[in-house]
Amino acid sequence: MKKLGFGLMRLPLLEKDDPKSVDLPRVCEMADAFLANGFTYFDTAYMYHGGLSEEIVKKALVQRHSRESFSVTSKLPTMFLNKQEDQSRIFAEQLARTGAGYFDVYLLHNLGTENYEKAERFGSFSFLADLKRRGIVKKTGFSFHDTASVLDKILSAHPEVDYVQLQINYLDWEDAGIQSRLCYETAVRHGKEIIVMEPVKGGGLTRLPQAVTELFAAVQPAWSPASWALRFAAGLPNVAMVLSGMSDLAQVQDNMATIQDLRPLNEQELSVLREAVRVLTAGTSIPCTACRYCTDGCPKKIAIPEYFSLYNNEQLGRKGGYNLQKQYYETYTQHHGKASDCIGCKKCEAACPQHLPIRAYLKEIARRYES
Ligand code: SF4
Ligand code: SF4
Repeated sequence: MKKLGFGLMRLPLLEKDDPKSVDLPRVCEMADAFLANGFTYFDTAYMYHGGLSEEIVKKALVQRHSRESFSVTSKLPTMFLNKQEDQSRIFAEQLARTGAGYFDVYLLHNLGTENYEKAERFGSFSFLADLKRRGIVKKTGFSFHDTASVLDKILSAHPEVDYVQLQINYLDWEDAGIQSRLCYETAVRHGKEIIVMEPVKGGGLTRLPQAVTELFAAVQPAWSPASWALRFAAGLPNVAMVLSGMSDLAQVQDNMATIQDLRPLNEQELSVLREAVRVLTAGTSIPCTACRYCTDGCPKKIAIPEYFSLYNNEQLGRKGGYNLQKQYYETYTQHHGKASDCIGCKKCEAACPQHLPIRAYLKEIARRYES
């Protein structure tokens, strides 16, 4: 299967601020072009487009193309589960919404510390295994937003899953908060196939400063910024699929051209990406080097460098709308102190070789992510 997946979460809209006003004729045109070029993988979820994305699968695909000509992934919304029986009720609803008859891939959506505990409490992994045994689901797995150590714990407990869906892009690769590389290496160590989400960071890596586009153009003038980002993710070993939430036909065509022509990036191109990251992060708000000297002595176990990294990272991502950094922050605070838990003891500032005003930064982070 070709490595580009059509993410059905940023579809073209008729009304800019209404996620349910999906422009169906344009989606059909995009899906048809995708299929006509030999691409087959579509990714939806229970809550995308206010619940409409799964119905779009029915209208754009199931009712217009043979079921064998495309594959559909959907996800069990672990965040909406309140009792064990919710699982079969939601799954039946998803099958009815899509009309797909079966899901080629079915994932537990958005595992991290809290949702993983819930998944264990409700037997969600057994629920998926049973669907797979019955043939209503072909492959199983989970999408994930947390640290590599939490991922290691889940994969050690559940070696039966086929896929892990991870946030991977060249900007987050070494990010202390998102831990793309560490999560990727953990999944590889467990022998898992990886589905990549956010390869262009919600569109943030398509809108680059001139200094970066000039770096790119000097080496590969024909490649778009999105093409660089897709090539980075798709070229990694064990990556089975790279999802792109495409919003118009031009994006579909650009992404297809990239994947048709895919080869691993060479050393010169990888070095250009490292330089791009250096340029993109040079003007970040908090000049933390993630040395972690500050964390051991903190009586409130505040994840100081991770919170700083998320804050810096957000300056480069998309503005407004769904805030992925806030989601990571909420996951971190399930097993670390919040920024607002700081008691001002100054132990961290005494340890910081960069002499950062950590307490003041934490106040700003609490304002940003806890309101
Ligand atoms: S000042 Fe705040 S962040 Fe720093 S060590 Fe004390 S409690 Fe932790
Ligand atoms: S000691 Fe300072 S530079 Fe090092 S991780 Fe903590 S805040 Fe960042």
